[in-house]
Amino acid sequence: MIVVPLIERKRDGATLTAEEWSALVAAYTAGDIPDYQMSALLMAVLLRGLARHELAALTDAMLASGQRLAYDDWTVPRVDKHSTGGVGDKVSLVLAPLVAACGVAVPMMSGRGLGHTGGTLDKLEAIPGFRTGLSLAEAKAQVMKLGCAMIGQTPEIAPADKKLYALRDVTGTVEAIPLIAASIMSKKLAEGLSALVLDVKHGSGAFLPPLAQALDLAQTMIAIGEDRGCPTVALLTAMDRPLGRACGNALETEEAILALRGEGPPDLMEVTYALGVEMLLAAGVEKNSKKARARLENALGSGVAAEKFEQVIAAQGGNPKVVEDPSVLPQAQAVEVFAAPETGIIMRVEPRVIGRAVVALGGGRIQVEDDVDPSVGFVITVKPGDRVVEGEPIASVFARDQAGIELGMGALREAIGIGGKLEQKPLPLVSHRVTKAGVEALAAIPQPPGRAPRAAPRG
Ligand code: URA
Repeated sequence: MIVVPLIERKRDGATLTAEEWSALVAAYTAGDIPDYQMSALLMAVLLRGLARHELAALTDAMLASGQRLAYDDWTVPRVDKHSTGGVGDKVSLVLAPLVAACGVAVPMMSGRGLGHTGGTLDKLEAIPGFRTGLSLAEAKAQVMKLGCAMIGQTPEIAPADKKLYALRDVTGTVEAIPLIAASIMSKKLAEGLSALVLDVKHGSGAFLPPLAQALDLAQTMIAIGEDRGCPTVALLTAMDRPLGRACGNALETEEAILALRGEGPPDLMEVTYALGVEMLLAAGVEKNSKKARARLENALGSGVAAEKFEQVIAAQGGNPKVVEDPSVLPQAQAVEVFAAPETGIIMRVEPRVIGRAVVALGGGRIQVEDDVDPSVGFVITVKPGDRVVEGEPIASVFARDQAGIELGMGALREAIGIGGKLEQKPLPLVSHRVTKAGVEALAAIPQPPGRAPRAAPRG
């Protein structure tokens, strides 16, 4: 395949045909296009964008590079949730068993930690014995038996994405909205879903912090899903502070288990319920939000959701006792309490600083092949707007040794700002609902000091 003229056309702002995109993806996946040419093309896409027909062709070609789950005449609705990633985001661990306990099958396929954001697979693997590497056939059999499987991207799913993502990661081409959308949706569409719910984060700790970019990403992914017969809806949620209290793999798994037992922190529960409502509505098992929420609360309160998690853990080789006794999770060697350095109002808890510190403590990866230490991280019990008194315990560091404790204490000093009055109000936990019909603002977005609050436009 002669690639140079295609790179030049894209570089100069023209579009490629659907056939050209299909041929490019197939040839690259087969090893017939060198990385340096594909890198140049990806950079041209980052700078020039993709027309709608190009995005469709790219996604379809990535999807077609692997297998798709087919459930034939099995009629139980199947819905997955995908989050664009954040700090302290353990929603998937609560949501998958919770929604499955409400009669909707959840074939959840997740990723590993990426940069400063954590990954569901790493959190699940903190459970002794838990196996996320099921084959597609194993995952399908488990979904049909238990209504839920929690797995990683198998080699059978979208191998073109795996190769392209690895290349983007080392060529500065990750942050292109069409490439992110095609990458995520090619994997989600392979799961054989009846519908998909997206949790698109915005705020300083998000993958794409600005609201406008988060909305653009949500709408781009919705268009791809809807055009391929997969009803897709997105909620925009806050990532200007960590979600919940725990940040770090085993600590987050423990918090998710507590949430399934009815003891979750309010912000985690609000986001989980909001996404769960969308999943039940999309599956068609409830007709309105109020009934969907009541069904979720009932599944949680009755213990059925926690039981479902136990079944999933046992089926995937993990120790199901963890649900009753989270102390079977790996425990940190060193723990130290962080006290408020002064009296005042919590102004900010900067998620990127916390996420990077989890990685530095050994809880995330610097290279893809790095092992993670599941035991390390933070528990932060304050949120922006809380009043604290000097000396009051407001967080804990979990580390391997004293050097880790010092690193963690330094990160908390940097991340947690205390002042006389809250200058910037936190983002609403769930700010927008996006569907193929348009954007619905659910809450006003606080503006920087000195500017009046403004809701996002509808339409
Ligand atoms: N997650 C993905 O799966 N793909 C991207 O491109 C970015 C985040």
